[in-house]
Amino acid sequence: MKFEIVTIFPDFFRGPLDYGIVRRAREAAFIEILIHDLRAFTTDRHKTVDDRPFGGGEGMVLKPEPLFECVESLQLASRKRRMAGEAKEAVVLLSPQGQMFTQAVAEEMAGLERIVMICGRYEGVDERVAESLADREISIGDYVLSGGELAAAIVVDAVARLQAGVLGNETSSVDESFGEAGLLDWPQYTRPAEFRGWKVPEVLIGGNHEEVRKWRRNAAREKTQRQRPDLLEGSRK
Ligand code: SAH
Repeated sequence: MKFEIVTIFPDFFRGPLDYGIVRRAREAAFIEILIHDLRAFTTDRHKTVDDRPFGGGEGMVLKPEPLFECVESLQLASRKRRMAGEAKEAVVLLSPQGQMFTQAVAEEMAGLERIVMICGRYEGVDERVAESLADREISIGDYVLSGGELAAAIVVDAVARLQAGVLGNETSSVDESFGEAGLLDWPQYTRPAEFRGWKVPEVLIGGNHEEVRKWRRNAAREKTQRQRPDLLEGSRK
C-alpha cells in the first residue's frame, strides 16, 4: 500500500514514521511512503504556495494551483472513478471540518492501494481543493492543529498497522480497542505480579485459559462502561 503526503514541510516526516511497526512495515515493503514537496509545484520565483483570503481577514490560505498541479502529476484514476469505488485510490484533505477519523474509517482505508493526503497550513486550504480535488475531508478530532502533517502521520500509523502481515500473528488488531467486539481492550499486566503492594488479578496468573478469557471479556466491558459508555450504546457485540 502506498501513502503519498503533500506538504510544505517535507522534512517534518523524518522521525514520526521511522519507528516501531511503521518502520518495520516500510522495511518489509508492506507499505511505501512518498513525500511530495508542494513548493516543487509552484511556477514563480518565490515558490509561493499561499495568498490572502478573498473577503479579507487574518492569515493566509493555501492556493489551489500548486495543489492541483501536484496531485494531478501523480496520475491517479479520475476523481469520479475514485469516489465510485472503482479505483482503490483516494485523495484525502486533512481538515478539522472533515469526517471524524475512527477505527472504522481506518479499516475502510486499509482496503485501498494508494492514499494521497493533502496537509493544509495557515488558515486552511482554498475550498476548491475540497470541492474538486480531494475525494473526502478527514479530521483526527475536534480541535484545531496548525497543520495537517501530524494528522497525516496519525492516519498512516493507524492504517499501516491494519495491513495484512504488518502486526504478525501474535498481535492481532481484532482483539484491540474498537475491534470486533466494539469495546476497549482489556487491561494488560506484566511482571512483577506484585508491585508496591498492587497485585495482578489472581486469575491471570492461574493458567486457566477459559477463566482468563471470561475475566478479560468482563474487564473489557467494565472498563468500556466506565471510560466510554458511548461505545456500548453502538456496540457491534
Ligand atoms: N481555519 C481552519 C483551520 C486551519 S488549521 C478552520 O478553522 O477550520 C490548518 C490546517 O491544519 C488545516 O488546513 C488542516 O490541514 C490541518 N488541521 C487542523 N486541525 C486538524 C484536524 N483536527 N484534523 C486534521 N487536520 C487538521
